Amino acid sequence: MSKEERLKHLLEAAELEIGYLKRRVSRMEKRLLRQEKLDDINRHQSKWAMQQLEQARKLAEQASLAKTDFLASMSHEIRTPLNIVLGMGELLENTDLDQIQSQYLQSLRLSGEHLLKLINDILEFSRIESGIVEVTHNSFCIEDLLAEVAAMGNHLTREKGIEFSLSLDKSLDNNRSGDSRKIKQVLINLVGNAVKYTDSGRVRLSVIGSRGDDPESITFIISDTGIGIPDDKQTLIFEQFAQIEQGETQEKSGVGLGLAISKRLVVAMGGQIQIDSQVGRGSTFTVHLSLPLTEQPPLTSSDGSEISAAEPSLSPLKLLVVDDIYLNFEVIKNYLKDLPVTV
Ligand code: ADP
Repeated sequence: MSKEERLKHLLEAAELEIGYLKRRVSRMEKRLLRQEKLDDINRHQSKWAMQQLEQARKLAEQASLAKTDFLASMSHEIRTPLNIVLGMGELLENTDLDQIQSQYLQSLRLSGEHLLKLINDILEFSRIESGIVEVTHNSFCIEDLLAEVAAMGNHLTREKGIEFSLSLDKSLDNNRSGDSRKIKQVLINLVGNAVKYTDSGRVRLSVIGSRGDDPESITFIISDTGIGIPDDKQTLIFEQFAQIEQGETQEKSGVGLGLAISKRLVVAMGGQIQIDSQVGRGSTFTVHLSLPLTEQPPLTSSDGSEISAAEPSLSPLKLLVVDDIYLNFEVIKNYLKDLPVTV
């Protein structure tokens, strides 16, 4: 092959190669363009999805606010007349009644108190579910708080003819910081349940300190010798509206919110609640909380509100009572009638 022919051959091969490369480049450019379009669509779609999500979140927030508003006004609307019914019942109790009338009144009051508890539980639970659990930190004395819970335990067990005991770890540092109002609410609920589901034997409230190395930890143990809870129901009872059909339990039950509320309150305070129970032998509820030590707390009632050291004198006092519901005014006036105050 001559030199010219070889060169021509090489040129043809090079042109073929260039043609092939051009086609490849053009294919790649098209693919790139397609990818860019797809990316664009994806960007658009994810932006749209984010907008939808944000809109849904705002709607959910609005719905939750509306629910909270509704509950707050319902709370007022239902509880106000109910409190009047109960207040009037209490006043009626102090008048001359024959035995039958007293019995009727007692039934009225018991049903009213039961209804009030149900309403309070439902409202409280709804508030918690809407995320409105505010944990406060006040200084308080554990011994004082337990004295109040024990007073209620003693009263309830005496009525049922069973035993109540309180045992407090003597080495425990009593001055703590925490939400004493919520702690009391949980303990009262657990002691109340222990009494409710125990027909013979005893209910005990024990308090011990320092779990492991943590000097701030406190353990409250509420045990009873009551009907107990089957193994497979021990998780369920902390769910809302959960009640166990067991012997006579049905008659005694409330609405099944007490433990659901207690658990949520304990968790909101950063603690834990556990149960250990055996059918026919009794139950033990254990609450672990971390409560930092404080200096001597100021004089407070157990719900954390401060009280002044000197008891104010009630005489001579003029009281202005203001209420938009006249019957409330009547109840309050009657409550105050034996005190040295002028209303
Ligand atoms: P309730 O208002 O029905 O007592 P709770 O949430 O307080 O609602 O309790 C849920 C259920 O757990 C009760 O219905 C009862 O069956 C069971 N329970 C709670 N505490 C005890 C207890 N100390 N002993 C036996 N059963 C209990």
